[in-house]
Amino acid sequence: MSTNQVVVRGRFYSPANPAQGEAITAYSEASDLVIAALQNNGADLRLPLVALKPRYGGFNREQVYFDWKSAQGEACSVCFSAKDAELLMAQAQATATQPYQQVRREQTKRKRRSTIGLGLLALYLILPFLLLLILLWKSHQIAAWVAGYVSIEQEQALGEMVFANATDGMKLRQTGYDYEVLKSIGERLTQGSVYDYHWYLADTEEINAFAVPGGYVVANTGLLKAADSAEEVAGVLAHEVQHVEQRHTLEDIIYSLGWQASIALIAGDVSSLWITQAATQLTSLKFSRELETEADIKGLEALHKANIAPQGLVTFFEKLAESEEGLDSLTFLSTHPASDQRSANLKKAIQQQTNWTTLALPYDWPKVKAAVEQNKHTIK
Ligand SMILES: [Zn+2]
Repeated sequence: MSTNQVVVRGRFYSPANPAQGEAITAYSEASDLVIAALQNNGADLRLPLVALKPRYGGFNREQVYFDWKSAQGEACSVCFSAKDAELLMAQAQATATQPYQQVRREQTKRKRRSTIGLGLLALYLILPFLLLLILLWKSHQIAAWVAGYVSIEQEQALGEMVFANATDGMKLRQTGYDYEVLKSIGERLTQGSVYDYHWYLADTEEINAFAVPGGYVVANTGLLKAADSAEEVAGVLAHEVQHVEQRHTLEDIIYSLGWQASIALIAGDVSSLWITQAATQLTSLKFSRELETEADIKGLEALHKANIAPQGLVTFFEKLAESEEGLDSLTFLSTHPASDQRSANLKKAIQQQTNWTTLALPYDWPKVKAAVEQNKHTIK
């Protein structure tokens, strides 16, 4: 053996050896594998590599066995780690290592196949979760898609039921000068709409207004009290009405109720328990910033069309933001953050609308405020 030969450790198996084999050292030289000094006879065993049958085996097939038949016809085997086998073969004559190179190529292919197999298995296992993730991620779009299958008639029928539940316990009225003004402003803003609007005043200090699918709009007397002009109320209503016109509320109800209710809705079954669920959250419904922006912009367009001065929408929000009152009474503000960004966007959008013909709203605003106070006591 030459001095630069790599010697590796391995195990030798033969019928004469116990099952666990015999620890050996080995090296390769030219076209031979040399197993050093076996214990039983003390002599090196020199085997021509081409006469050996290599194979992968052991745990995880990470060992290389070389099998052969002894002169006595006994099945013998020597085994190395894959790394050591590679070292041994690198030292040997290339032509003699061909059988080894062949099984190594097969082993590489097998490993690649099993990696792909594992990848596919993993994909198969996680696919449902991926789909769920996509569903959750895209569910607002899905809700919008489902809403597309709901007819105006179905929406109005749904709205009627949701409205009945949402306003349960509220002091609603459709009388008085303040109510007439509210309704008149609302009608100016919804001319030509596909929806048949119903306007209500709710007697509560809370500054809020909300809209139910199909065109049910509730404004609190607290909103009228906080407003300094009809234009400010018009701004809030213009915005709120767009949540109906753009079907934001309908989509949000579908989104929060999920598939079961959506299917029932498409099937025309607008009844049952989930309506109540939908109703409970309506008064404090919070839309995404995109939908709020859309309601702002479309609301401005509606004000423009109705020849109503648009500044009320901006000033009312700014006033609420600076208000000393606690957020409890400012429900509208909690669902409609009066950010500087929002004000800036609104002002910019107003500037961009040219030919804005403004006609002052013909209402006696102090009379509206007085009516709020007077009528408060007439509601049971
Ligand atoms: Zn809004």
